[in-house]
Amino acid sequence: MIRPSKKSAEIPPFLVMEVLERAQAMAAAGANVIHMEVGEPDFHSPARVVAAAEAGLRRGQTHYTHSLGRRDLREAIAAWHRTQYGTAIDPDAIVVTSGSSPALLLAFWALCDPGDEIILANPGYACYPQLVRFGGGEPVFVDVFEEDSFQYRPAAIAAKITPRTKAILVNSPSNPTGCVIDRERLAEICRLGPLVVSDEIYHGLVYGERAVSVREITENSIVVNGFSKLFAMTGWRLGYVVAPPELVRPMQKMQQNFFISAGDFVQNAGIAALNECAVDAARMRTEYDRRRRLVLRRCREIGLGAAPEPTGAFYVFANAKRYCAASGLCSYDLAFDILEKARVAVTPGTDFGPGGEGYLRLSYANSYENLVEGLERLARYFRDRG
Ligand code: PMP
Repeated sequence: MIRPSKKSAEIPPFLVMEVLERAQAMAAAGANVIHMEVGEPDFHSPARVVAAAEAGLRRGQTHYTHSLGRRDLREAIAAWHRTQYGTAIDPDAIVVTSGSSPALLLAFWALCDPGDEIILANPGYACYPQLVRFGGGEPVFVDVFEEDSFQYRPAAIAAKITPRTKAILVNSPSNPTGCVIDRERLAEICRLGPLVVSDEIYHGLVYGERAVSVREITENSIVVNGFSKLFAMTGWRLGYVVAPPELVRPMQKMQQNFFISAGDFVQNAGIAALNECAVDAARMRTEYDRRRRLVLRRCREIGLGAAPEPTGAFYVFANAKRYCAASGLCSYDLAFDILEKARVAVTPGTDFGPGGEGYLRLSYANSYENLVEGLERLARYFRDRG
C-alpha cells in the first residue's frame, strides 16, 4: 500500500474548490447554479494578449527562457512599476514565475529556516498558511476585524513579533474582504522592522483610490504580483516577484531547480498585457464596479452586513452572523445549505481562517444578469429563514 507523505495527506483542502466541485456536480445533474464562489475573472483574456501568444507560438517561442524570465518582460514590468507607482525597480531584481502562487512559494523558501515565522492576517487568503508551511516556515496569525475594515492593527502585529519573525504578509486589496490598506497604515507596518511581503495581485482592481505598492515605502520588502486578475489571465499562469538583491540569486536557483522558467510565449502575452491592454483592464474594472454596487445594495436589502464597503478586488465579505445564529448553522454548513436550497454557490468565511466564521464571501466575477438572479435567490432564501 502506498502511504502519502504526512504533509501531503494533511494539507487542508481549498474549501472554495469543494463548493465549486459540488456546484458542478449539481449542474451536471441538471440544476441551474449561479456561481458567486469562484475567485477568477469571468472575462476572457484581452484579444491583444491572445494575439501576442499566437504570434509567439508561430515565431517558435516554445522553449525554456532565462530562469529569471525574459529580459523584455522584466523590463516591461519595471516600466509598469515606474508608471503606476513612480518606483524604480531593477529588471534583475524580478523573477518571473508561473503565477503568483509559485512566486509566494519562492519567497517563503528563500526566507524561512525551520521555526521561522511569517505573520498572516486572520481572516486572510486561504492558501497562505499552506504556502508558508510548505515554504519551510510557521504561520503566525494576527486577527483583523470588521470594525477596522479588516486591516491589521500595527500594535497587534508588534505583539506577535519574535526573533524568529521573518516577514509580515500584507494583501491589499484583500482576498476575501476586498478592503484596501491606506498608505499610512502600510507605512506603520513597514516601520515595525520585519520585511514585508506584499501580495499585490489585485492591484489595479480598485474602485476608489489606487492601491499603494510596498516599494513606494520600503525596499525591505518583497512584491508578489501577476497577470491573473487585472488582465483576466488566470489560465496562463504568469506572475512575478520583486526581491531585495540578497534574495534574487537564491530564488533564481530554486526556480532553476523546481520550475526552470515560466512559459516562453506566455511571457510574450504578459508584455502585451502591460503595454497594450490598459483599455481592456479599465473596461473590466468599470464593469466590476457596477456589479460591486449591485451586490452591496442587495446585501443591505437582504440584511447581510456589507460594511466596511470593499473598494478593491471582486469580493464582498458579507456578515451572515445573524443568520448563522438564527439557524444554528456555521458558515460552512450555511454555504452548503444555500447551495442545495437556493442554487447559489458562495464561499464559507472559514475558508479564510477561524476569523471568517459567520461570513460568506460573495464573488462578483460573474455577469450582471447572473448576479441579479443569484442575489434574488439569496434574498428569497434568507427571507424564508427570516
Ligand atoms: N494571492 C491571492 C490573494 C489570490 O486571491 C490568488 C488567487 N486566488 C493568488 C494569490 C494566486 O493567483 P495566481 O497564482 O493565479 O497568480
